[in-house]
Amino acid sequence: MTRNQPMTADTQWVRRVNRDAVFKLLIERGPISRTALARLTHLTPATVFSIADELVQQDLAQEHSIGHSIGGRRPMLFKFNPTAYAAIGVNIRSSQVTGVVAYLDGSICLTATRTYRVDSTIQVLSLTNEVIGELIASAPVPPDRLAGIGLAVPGLVDVERGQVIESVNWGWKDLPLRNLLVEKFSLPVCIDEDDNALAIGEGLFGAGRGTSNIVCIKVGRGLGAGIIIGGTLLRGADNTAGEIEHILVAPEGPQCYCGNYGCLTRMASTSAIISQAIRQLKQGAASVLLEMAHGDLDQITVGMIGEAASAGDALATQVIEQAGRYLGIGIAALVSFLNPDMVILGGGVIRAGTPILEPIRRIVRLRTLTTAGQRVQIVPAGLGTEAPAIGAAALVMIQQGLLPSNLLKLS
Ligand SMILES: [Zn+2]
Repeated sequence: MTRNQPMTADTQWVRRVNRDAVFKLLIERGPISRTALARLTHLTPATVFSIADELVQQDLAQEHSIGHSIGGRRPMLFKFNPTAYAAIGVNIRSSQVTGVVAYLDGSICLTATRTYRVDSTIQVLSLTNEVIGELIASAPVPPDRLAGIGLAVPGLVDVERGQVIESVNWGWKDLPLRNLLVEKFSLPVCIDEDDNALAIGEGLFGAGRGTSNIVCIKVGRGLGAGIIIGGTLLRGADNTAGEIEHILVAPEGPQCYCGNYGCLTRMASTSAIISQAIRQLKQGAASVLLEMAHGDLDQITVGMIGEAASAGDALATQVIEQAGRYLGIGIAALVSFLNPDMVILGGGVIRAGTPILEPIRRIVRLRTLTTAGQRVQIVPAGLGTEAPAIGAAALVMIQQGLLPSNLLKLS
């Protein structure tokens, strides 16, 4: 084919696959020479040289140093240049809109946050716009180096159409969020469900980096899982895979708001943990929690319970361990179904560390007799509360070709 002939869809596809292969190796194995890239990808030197040149032109790769010669001229080594571009990631949460500007390696260069109390569609949307506006105005990259905006939203999301089908927190129904933001900011926009964004963030840049099979669970006021198996984000038919809140973990347990009994969320969400602690305190149990909350039971947070448990408080330890056992039952089922390398746990209660992690690990090992349960690593999240925002930013980086699409298959 001569240079002037138009590319067919086939050749564009092949070019994209080849570029992904070279780009991924550059990220994972760089600094690396063009010759080594050709050898490892089994592509022709001409193809690899042309892709490497394109990556250098885009500033995604840069010359690093002269390598060692194995005879002949010493090769030039190239490395990934993660700070060449950045993207905005926003996580819309139940009381806060958190935004980051992240570089291509997931590192954060800027944050912006708005908190809110009133449940109002307009307010949450306007706060989201404020956060994005602030980040665009202060982003430490030129406007043409800002890849776009990724959003992590709780609720049911139509990823292809960019719509929030339903988000009960603010009464959003069929909200064309992507179009609204594209019109306002004239940047590419991707949206996804927040648990998926959490898994993308942790899988690419956090605790799951380098593994292809992870289950990422956020233990908050609700519970949700983002699942990556074989390097592919598991969405299911309706993008609801990972909705684990109402799986049964305690057949004789109390009634859940869904009408069933003993659901995971009823036994191990942060609200369940707090209610359990308050119930025992009202029955007269002694605990340092009373002192921490200055005698006001309504002020007790899951952070306080975790802190008290870490310090050896008997009531807090018992409450946290019980939640850990129920989480362990739910996670054991996921481990049996999915055989992940790693289960990554996020949320305030997980910061308690050993008091919650130990019962989870013990129950998972007890209830999964296969190799899957014995070898799976159960670890705290690595990126902190910004993980979904970073994951959302990564969505738009991948969509815009600033990260290779074979790092993580999104559908
Ligand atoms: Zn339920």
